[in-house]
Amino acid sequence: MNSRDSEHMIAELREKENYEVIDNFAEADLILINTCSVRERPVHKLFSELGGFNKKKKPGAKIGVCGCTASHLGEEIIKRAPYVNFVLGARNVSKISEVLHRDKAVEIDINYDESEFAFNDFRSSPYKAYINISIGCDKSCTYCIVPKTRGDEISIPDSLIIQEARKAVNAGVKEVFLLGQNVNNYGRRFSGDQEKVNFSELLRRLSKIEGLERIRFTSPHPFHMDDEFIEEFSTNPKICKSMHMPLQSGSTKVLQDMKRGYTKEWFLNRVFKLKSMCPEATISTDIIVGFPGESDEDFEDTLDVMKKVKFDQIFSFKYSPRPETEAEHFTNVVDEEIASARLTVLQSLNNEIIDEKNTTQTGKVYRVYFEELLKDYFVSGKSDNNIIVKVKGSDELLGQFRDVKITSIGRTILTGEVVA
Ligand code: SAH
Ligand code: SF4
Repeated sequence: MNSRDSEHMIAELREKENYEVIDNFAEADLILINTCSVRERPVHKLFSELGGFNKKKKPGAKIGVCGCTASHLGEEIIKRAPYVNFVLGARNVSKISEVLHRDKAVEIDINYDESEFAFNDFRSSPYKAYINISIGCDKSCTYCIVPKTRGDEISIPDSLIIQEARKAVNAGVKEVFLLGQNVNNYGRRFSGDQEKVNFSELLRRLSKIEGLERIRFTSPHPFHMDDEFIEEFSTNPKICKSMHMPLQSGSTKVLQDMKRGYTKEWFLNRVFKLKSMCPEATISTDIIVGFPGESDEDFEDTLDVMKKVKFDQIFSFKYSPRPETEAEHFTNVVDEEIASARLTVLQSLNNEIIDEKNTTQTGKVYRVYFEELLKDYFVSGKSDNNIIVKVKGSDELLGQFRDVKITSIGRTILTGEVVA
């Protein structure tokens, strides 16, 4: 989402203010830092990076701090780093070309509604188009700062989404990547008078676009994975067969304390429904360890889900207390060392699972969409089910689909050769 917000800012600044993106910040007239605040570490990093930018920037160059940390720290950023020229919160992105001219401006209204704003066009990839389908989040997971930085959930009208996808496809893009905090809750609330379209219907409408070959999305919420959605996912050939299912914890008790709205059993039920309808689908997840009150038994439940599901990819984090969240006040804190040890156990179990899965990969053939040049004359891309593959080749493969036979295995990337 931050990447897409950055693209929107670049688009607005290019069209309205004549800016261009350059590689070397020391030569820039404007330095924008788009921040995350989901965990604490990026916030610390912001202030150390700001100091570095301020020292090396061109005289007179402006610095703007944008994104979720801008939303939640607001003016404090300028107090701590007085050389910052403006602060622009997530969900206020469309104001970029205006705040630029107001020194010390702080625009962080989390109720600001940009859901119908038609941003100018800029895409960092000519092959894949990120498209926002909703802004904000209506859930109240007790660990999460996002509802406080991105505000209430508003869906972007489907007509705007389809128009954006069409435009990207006309420009040569073959894959769209739909973005939102709860994509499968799409249609919950529109700001204008709008036909109630749910996520499955949005997917059906998008898949009618001629020339659009692949549709991906993130993040769906396990709570909203109803049968209609799983069926649409499984049977619509344009939807890439990789599902992100953010588990967070395998313990029903911890899930309750997190206010996730589902149980261990519901999560497993949805996974097995998906696996039975769509055996080729890969599944990725997010897991938090060391949430307040997480006992050894609770953690065992998380490991149990890992063993039952055998995720294809996990993003795992140690719980990080965040301001203005409910869990910040929970007193049954898990010892830092215990949390670190659990993270290590979780990640090594994941490595075992991935290594075991990879033993059957050699010789398999995947249809790969090539997107990126790597060093040493390799080009990489993804299979429909999100497996990253590289082959020897050059830029003529970029933006192309090829059948690739896997010849050697790595944990994060497989190597292959083009067979057709
Ligand atoms: N809307 C998405 C998540 C967005 S945040 C969803 O509900 O799945 C991305 C991930 O960061 C979360 O899935 C969670 O695993 C992690 N995360 C969020 N807040 C966190 C915190 N306080 N500490 C550690 N990890 C956190
Ligand atoms: Fe945060 Fe929960 Fe919303 Fe995801 S669903 S953004 S974890 S509050």
